[in-house]
Amino acid sequence: MNPVEWTNATTVVEAVASLAGGGVIKAGGVDLVDLMKEGIVSPQRLVNLRTVRGLDGIEEDRERGGLQVGPLVTLARLAADPLVRRAARALAEAAGHAATPQIRNVATVGGNLLQRPRCWYFRSEAFPCRRKGGTACFAIEGENAYHAVFGNGTCAIVHPSATATALVALGARLTIAGKAGQREAQLESIFVRPEQDVTREHALAPDEVITAVRVPAMSPGAASAYTKLGEKESYDWPIAEAACVIERSGGRCVRASIVMGAAAPVPWRASEAEAALAGKDLGEPAARMAAKLALRGATPLSGNGYKVALLETVVRRTILAAMMDKEEAR
Ligand SMILES: Cc1cc2nc3c(=O)[nH]c(=O)nc-3n(C[C@H](O)[C@H](O)[C@H](O)COP(=O)(O)OP(=O)(O)OC[C@H]3O[C@@H](n4cnc5c(N)ncnc54)[C@H](O)[C@@H]3O)c2cc1C
Repeated sequence: MNPVEWTNATTVVEAVASLAGGGVIKAGGVDLVDLMKEGIVSPQRLVNLRTVRGLDGIEEDRERGGLQVGPLVTLARLAADPLVRRAARALAEAAGHAATPQIRNVATVGGNLLQRPRCWYFRSEAFPCRRKGGTACFAIEGENAYHAVFGNGTCAIVHPSATATALVALGARLTIAGKAGQREAQLESIFVRPEQDVTREHALAPDEVITAVRVPAMSPGAASAYTKLGEKESYDWPIAEAACVIERSGGRCVRASIVMGAAAPVPWRASEAEAALAGKDLGEPAARMAAKLALRGATPLSGNGYKVALLETVVRRTILAAMMDKEEAR
């Protein structure tokens, strides 16, 4: 292990300043410490964000409606918080099904969004893959049972974050602090596709810090849902997951937002399915039709064709869950 400096930041400004010259934010440390042990990253300085006050709140956004979630809120709290469960059920469900109870108690939403992919070739020092500056994606021709079925021509990782799947479906925005001050960005827009830059998953600068996640208020009659399918109930990533928001009125779907996880290198929006659902009667036939459309254009690899059927199932179940959500129904 290389020597590493440690800074307990007490303010966001101090955290940003400490990132200059090779510092890296440490939130829960679940992913970062793994990456250091695996030799994938070797930061000169760890900047502990957990010593900054005021970044672990969950509150109603009084200015704009919806929720404001601090980046240090743990997955366990997101899963259990009554406000989150009421206003953004998909997020609570996604957080509550990730990893294990022990990990959820430590892992933060900021770190969950920016964790690095779990592709076994990327994580192994033995494989100099494209994402680490090499010239090949070993998964495309190799062991790819858990890899992408969309957007997989350059690099076949799947985006690892369950909260990203839910938050993109919910239309979340990030508040980001950097040297030049604060900026806001649509969460969906920060994820980088391999064709844009295969070495990074997100567009935050190395000295930027997420200071808030804002989830907009859903329209009256809307409901959200999230579903994960994995090989095990715990201690595992999904092999297929989906989140959706369905806006409903008079027994019809007015607008849909559908995002698949474990499907592509970024949270993957099913735009064709969303468009086809608008104006349709709520119920199984519409959910089935949309789920089919969601998987149109999939390009499975040699070992992951099974994921197409699983994703279709998971999308159909998630749409139905949001359509039939009793608590929110008007
Ligand atoms: C066995 C196992 C199973 C898992 N299963 C799942 C699963 O099913 N679904 C899922 O989504 N995840 C899963 N995970 C991943 C786990 O949830 C993440 O590793 C964890 O959420 C990362 O959060 P953290 O707070 O520990 O981040 P850290 O490890 O501290 O940070 C991760 C990255 O984010 C950056 N970062 C953190 N906070 C900020 C911030 N506020 N601003 C800017 N940069 C920041 C860090 O610099 C680092 O690059 C699993 C992990 C394990 C070990």
